Amino acid sequence: MEKTALVVVDGQNDFLDVRGTLLVHDAASEARKLARATFEYPELWDGIFLTQDSHYEFDIAHPSFWTDNTQGPVKPFTKITADSVRRGQYTPVNTNGVEYSTDKELLYVLRYLDYIESKGMTHTVWQTHCVMGTWGHKIHPILKQMTNIWSNTRDKEVMTVLKGQNPNTEHFSAFEAIMPNSDPRTQLNETFVDELRGYETIVWCGWAGSHCLPATMLDGMKYLPYQNHIGLSDVSAPVAGCKMEHVKFFNEATKAGARITPLHNHIRTAL
Ligand SMILES: [Zn+2]
Repeated sequence: MEKTALVVVDGQNDFLDVRGTLLVHDAASEARKLARATFEYPELWDGIFLTQDSHYEFDIAHPSFWTDNTQGPVKPFTKITADSVRRGQYTPVNTNGVEYSTDKELLYVLRYLDYIESKGMTHTVWQTHCVMGTWGHKIHPILKQMTNIWSNTRDKEVMTVLKGQNPNTEHFSAFEAIMPNSDPRTQLNETFVDELRGYETIVWCGWAGSHCLPATMLDGMKYLPYQNHIGLSDVSAPVAGCKMEHVKFFNEATKAGARITPLHNHIRTAL
């Protein structure tokens, strides 16, 4: 019997709840739809994996890492290029937990920004989000209830996958950081890959459909080339203003061999 895994990317309060710091519009209603389907058809999934964005307050993608040329904090959603740092428009600040000197930190940050720009990305400073130990980091109650009931019905455990704990690199994908370093938490999560190898089909969904879901699913397709990959088009809302990235993701995933389909369609074909 073929087995199917469901991977829900970053279904956390900070993204799904109106009080969250980085609310993704429609994510909560999409989560509700997924939960309803799972209550009704628990047999859809033989395994459920929940990824969790997991940061410290001090993080390269949070305002606390940076000052601008007035010595004030940078505003959320600021795009910081290597050039703007070289010109002194933005400066990384040293904080507890970072052992190297300011000069070394600056060199590292420039290398990091150059690297991600060479990959066609620009560094974004977000609103502080998913700080470990806070309410915003927790899995949203709708998904918590969904997985609790599924777990009891199927007598299986839900696996949690943390990402983002290293403050020196953005970590969109649940498999590895944008720029892995000597910290094992930034390197390929082989346990996650090995666990997913136990399934023939992997269904990917979550938020945001413009950032962490694409990075995770496309990495998943790269590291699990023998699995069938399905992306849920209506459980993957993007960050506001990032619809183009969402469309680009669907195109890229389709080109790489995935099927992108709405949840109801998946249910119809799977049952
Ligand atoms: Zn994050």
